[in-house]
Amino acid sequence: MQRIVYFDNNATTKVDEEVKKEMEIFFTELYANPSSMHYFGGQVQKYLDLSRQKISELLGCLPEEIIFTSCGTESDSSAIYSALKTNPDKRHIITTAVEHPAVLNLCKHLETQGFRVTYLKVDENGMIDLKDLENALTRDTAVVSIMWANNETGVIYPVEKAAEICKKRGVLFHTDAVQAVGKIPINLSKTDIDMLSISGHKIHAPKGIGVLYVRKGVKFSPFLIGGHQERGRRAGTENVPYIAGLGKAAELALKNMEKENTYVKNLRDMLEKKISENIPNIKINGLNSPRLPNTSSVSFGYVEGESILLLLSEKGICASTGSACSSGSLEPSHVLMAMNIPFTYAHGTVRFSLSVYNTEEEVDYVVRELADVIKKLREISPFADGKPLFGLDVCETHKHHH
Ligand code: PLP
Repeated sequence: MQRIVYFDNNATTKVDEEVKKEMEIFFTELYANPSSMHYFGGQVQKYLDLSRQKISELLGCLPEEIIFTSCGTESDSSAIYSALKTNPDKRHIITTAVEHPAVLNLCKHLETQGFRVTYLKVDENGMIDLKDLENALTRDTAVVSIMWANNETGVIYPVEKAAEICKKRGVLFHTDAVQAVGKIPINLSKTDIDMLSISGHKIHAPKGIGVLYVRKGVKFSPFLIGGHQERGRRAGTENVPYIAGLGKAAELALKNMEKENTYVKNLRDMLEKKISENIPNIKINGLNSPRLPNTSSVSFGYVEGESILLLLSEKGICASTGSACSSGSLEPSHVLMAMNIPFTYAHGTVRFSLSVYNTEEEVDYVVRELADVIKKLREISPFADGKPLFGLDVCETHKHHH
């Protein structure tokens, strides 16, 4: 098999060997339903409690504030729907223009259902202004949902301050912390955050398991209705192997947090330094904002992100574009658009996201191949001299055809 250099850890991560080992026993040995009355069921129940305990240590909250879900997306949906159902007279939601589709597309859907949504703007550094939040809050606001860290740029948002503002105004505050958990310290007991989403597969647990934190005392209306699992807050037989795996991953994340902020951050900084030294006409997005230690969003001027990825992929390098280049649209991602990155740069954006499994040697390999790829692409690019065709920007040209 070809060598794989995996710099796409914000998309998903490798399951840690220890996590995998932790899960195995629950498939063929401790397979009872944890809700069963018998001794066997009780044995399995203990492991649910253990996992809840470990996750509460990572988040600095109480074990009973943890609800297991199927993924980050379910957690986001559950949180926002619960806020709306428990505030039936309120029809306004505040979020940001740079959320993951799990929140953004839900909000767009809710707009079609008669809700009003305010999308907080970001500046060129990808940062929101809390004054905009204060100004947007009304007596009609049911919930504010602001991500803790952005999946494309790694920009960290001041969610603790935002939660404080919301609490003063009596408005529920939710944060999508899928990209923040395990990378930056979180102590929920010291914040006013009411609800928080996490996803297992971003912290070396498997895909298909998530958590919704709901602060004790916050009214909650379940998304899945049925059995009494999770104290009636999320029906459905618990995914015991994955829950146990997530508990282990949370334990390891807490242990590795220091390494994320030293070893991984050094690798990321080294990657950015070497890219800056070896490749002209680049821009690192969100550089002037607080950022996750593992994420680097780099825009390469006058080339296409998709072409860069394809050529890197031939060398076994996995990264991602910031672009949602779906349905034939040439539009750069909503995050880069919101940041007002010039089209000629936004189009050539690549996100590198590292983990504790990456090495310095891999960084060197990626920069070497990347320099080569960019040079080749710029040689054939009509924009290589920086002057767009017909005096128009690429995207504007494209738009005229629609
Ligand atoms: N929120 C953010 C910020 C994410 O990065 C992701 C995953 O890409 C999600 C939510 C969705 O999580 P899941 O894939 O577990 O549904």
